[in-house]
Amino acid sequence: MYQALLIKYAEIGIKGKNRHLFEDRLMHQMAVALRKVDGSFETVKEMGRIFVMPHGECDKEGAIEALQTVFGITGICPVLIVTDMAFDHVAEELVGYVKQNYPASSCASQTFKINARRPWKAYPKDSMELNADLGEAVLNACPYLTVDVHHPDILITVEVRQSGVYIYSKVIPGPGGLPVGTSGRAELLLSGGIDSPVAGYMIAKRGVEIDAVYFHAPPYTSERAKQKVVDLAKQISIYTGPIHLHVINFTDIQLAIYEKCPHEELTIIMRRYMMRLAEIFAKKDGALGLITGESIGQVASQTTQSLLCTNAVCTLPVFRPLIGFDKQEIINISEKIGTYETSILPFEDCCTIFVAKHPVTHPLLKVIEKSEHSLDDVIGPLMEQAIETAETITVGN
Ligand code: ATP
Ligand code: MG
Repeated sequence: MYQALLIKYAEIGIKGKNRHLFEDRLMHQMAVALRKVDGSFETVKEMGRIFVMPHGECDKEGAIEALQTVFGITGICPVLIVTDMAFDHVAEELVGYVKQNYPASSCASQTFKINARRPWKAYPKDSMELNADLGEAVLNACPYLTVDVHHPDILITVEVRQSGVYIYSKVIPGPGGLPVGTSGRAELLLSGGIDSPVAGYMIAKRGVEIDAVYFHAPPYTSERAKQKVVDLAKQISIYTGPIHLHVINFTDIQLAIYEKCPHEELTIIMRRYMMRLAEIFAKKDGALGLITGESIGQVASQTTQSLLCTNAVCTLPVFRPLIGFDKQEIINISEKIGTYETSILPFEDCCTIFVAKHPVTHPLLKVIEKSEHSLDDVIGPLMEQAIETAETITVGN
């Protein structure tokens, strides 16, 4: 199937003097992902390129799948390595490779180009000669293919190194982004919905490590609702790496808000307390920002005026990667990353328990702040209690 995988990474190639830091982190993340795959894989950097070498019996398909979860990788190329480098033998192996990967039945009237490189200058043929002679060998053996040097359907790279001739032509897409661990840490407000897992995925894709908070309201919300959030955290941890999920009991705070504040303002005031608590846990975790799954206009608490009121209690930046996304666009990503099926399980959410019939859609910050004053006598101890009784669950390690 392949003797090595050549790993392509775009953006991290342009980080100047920091380049090796990004590459080292990428290799570390790859090694972590490959640990879960059967067999032994070595990750090596050679002349500015990263390769994965399988050793002995191993799950080669599984390795590709695992690498497709590593942010920073843009493409994964299965490579055939020919170690007997006599030209005739290389040509024979190349022809076998082309016949196997591009058989006549599936490639009628396709065009190809050989893209030879010779990093090992001692090889008797230079790259021009290799292009011409290997191209001829393929043409003779595969008459259904023709050459197009400008816009080939199939670009076959042949790299002559001291250790062997490397042949590859297919690029399996990676997830892109930057390796997790190169951009600090942020705290995800993770609910059981569709949006917040996607938001966490998107920020982790930019290299950010993730921890999370979940607010539950027992007995109004069930153990199963909590387990759903733990499952979602596990699912995104495949991409983000380990997550500390703080499960915060929000019941008494919600009841106090319900008792003392105008009902049409419940959701907005509740959201402000969620942000305040999330920020406290963010600081404990060393996180430099909060992440939510908010999108402008999706619900009453996500109008621009509502977002202003929610944001006003935060001192950390709030990352809202879905802010301009339509619901369907978010669903498409959640299906791609594998969280959708869990997200749509019909368990209750603490936000919907105490929801008003007619929530304000244009809250005024001054009015909301005034309403919150009626909590002054009780909220301090309730916040303390919520912090002290939080349960931390670690997933993905
Ligand atoms: P989601 O699909 O992510 O639940 P939503 O469309 O239901 O979002 P809201 O309920 O308004 O929207 O929540 C907005 C954001 O607030 C969520 O994306 C999430 O980041 C955060 N959030 C809401 N409820 C909770 C909760 N119980 N625990 C933690 N974070 C929450
Ligand atoms: Mg929700």
